[in-house]
Amino acid sequence: MARADTLARARTLDRPELAYLVRFPTPSGTRDTELTWAELARDTDWFTARLREHGLSAGQRALLTMSGFEGFWGHAAIGALRELKVTYGIAEAMGWDHRRTSVFHRELRPHAVIGLSAETLEGLAGAADVGEMLRPMSVVLARPAAVPVLRAVGVSACVLSPLGPALAVECRERSGAHVNAAEWRVGERDGQLSVGAGEGRVSPLPETPLGVAGRVVTGRCACGSDDPRVLFDEVDQRS
Ligand SMILES: [Zn+2]
Repeated sequence: MARADTLARARTLDRPELAYLVRFPTPSGTRDTELTWAELARDTDWFTARLREHGLSAGQRALLTMSGFEGFWGHAAIGALRELKVTYGIAEAMGWDHRRTSVFHRELRPHAVIGLSAETLEGLAGAADVGEMLRPMSVVLARPAAVPVLRAVGVSACVLSPLGPALAVECRERSGAHVNAAEWRVGERDGQLSVGAGEGRVSPLPETPLGVAGRVVTGRCACGSDDPRVLFDEVDQRS
């Protein structure tokens, strides 16, 4: 059993700066980049602001669907929901866990679902009317492959996607997923997206192609943000 004095001593120990090793696929192989606690705190603040813009507020409930290896943004999402005092449940974003999403939908009655994947939708499709289930929700932030499926059944979904070690989140204007320009540089070459670390990141990452088809829009969004926006071909070619 942990004793109060043991915990008090543990609190005085040095905490390593490194929070996560973020591993992401590129066309030339897997890349690793380090994520510190300070960076995670800044990412959490940015994501908190995005969720606040979507209207999430204290007393609401949310379902977060993410995979275990996505802690680098999942941790920021959890921090954001705590900051906003939104009660949350977590389901795995892989298809085999779609029943947990349906149980949370029934029992938690969430206002928002964050990180919905095409695999979860496929799993749900056999047993539920996905449109009926998700149309009443205030906020649906879904992966690029899931967005056209949702929009086709009348769900007003916005895009949320990891972009290498960064996170892209669409605002209510639905005109591309914003990436935090204070932390990341996004680019496109020959129709493929790339990402690089901003100057403030501890782990350097030169412009790295991601093998993801899309383009980047700069200039102020109608929401007022100057953060660049990423348009994923996966979303726009099918919706
Ligand atoms: Zn916007």
